[in-house]
Amino acid sequence: MELLCLDIINSNRFGEYLAKPGRDMLNNANWLHVLVDKWNLDVKFPIQSNDLKILQELRDNMQQAVKYLNLDTKLCAEELVKVNSILKNTPCQIKLVYKDGNFVLQDIPLCDSWANVIWSTAYSFAKLISEYDITRIKICENKDCGWIFYDESKSRTRRWCDHKICGNLMKVRRYRERQKQTEQ
Ligand SMILES: [Zn+2]
Repeated sequence: MELLCLDIINSNRFGEYLAKPGRDMLNNANWLHVLVDKWNLDVKFPIQSNDLKILQELRDNMQQAVKYLNLDTKLCAEELVKVNSILKNTPCQIKLVYKDGNFVLQDIPLCDSWANVIWSTAYSFAKLISEYDITRIKICENKDCGWIFYDESKSRTRRWCDHKICGNLMKVRRYRERQKQTEQ
């Protein structure tokens, strides 16, 4: 499942999970261009340092919340300080629109450029944890990866961001460990 909040959450590829230095894609203008194109967001480049800081803080807050969920720790509203403050402080307009044969309510933020990206990210995360199954929000089991995804599998058993990448890698790692043990 594609969600703006998941793209932002996964924008620091190597956080505490990897020994390698962090690579924050929010600092990468090309990555941001691809992101805003993908989500059809109209922004002015370059991103201002204050907006970048808010987006990074929001990402940290969302990542922390997902870690809580994965540790089966009760996630309470107090944990979502940044997400909530963005939603609370962005004026919004609610519109009734006719879409694909149905009426739907649309929330439209009354702000533009990066403030809109920030709001849309917080809103997409709020939707994810309020309207979807939070037990399906998972962290790739490869500790060196840490990719966060929504498990849409019927069996709810998806363990990797990508079974061809991290799944295979972990398989090989387990195989080598077993080999080592039998050799000893
Ligand atoms: Zn992975």
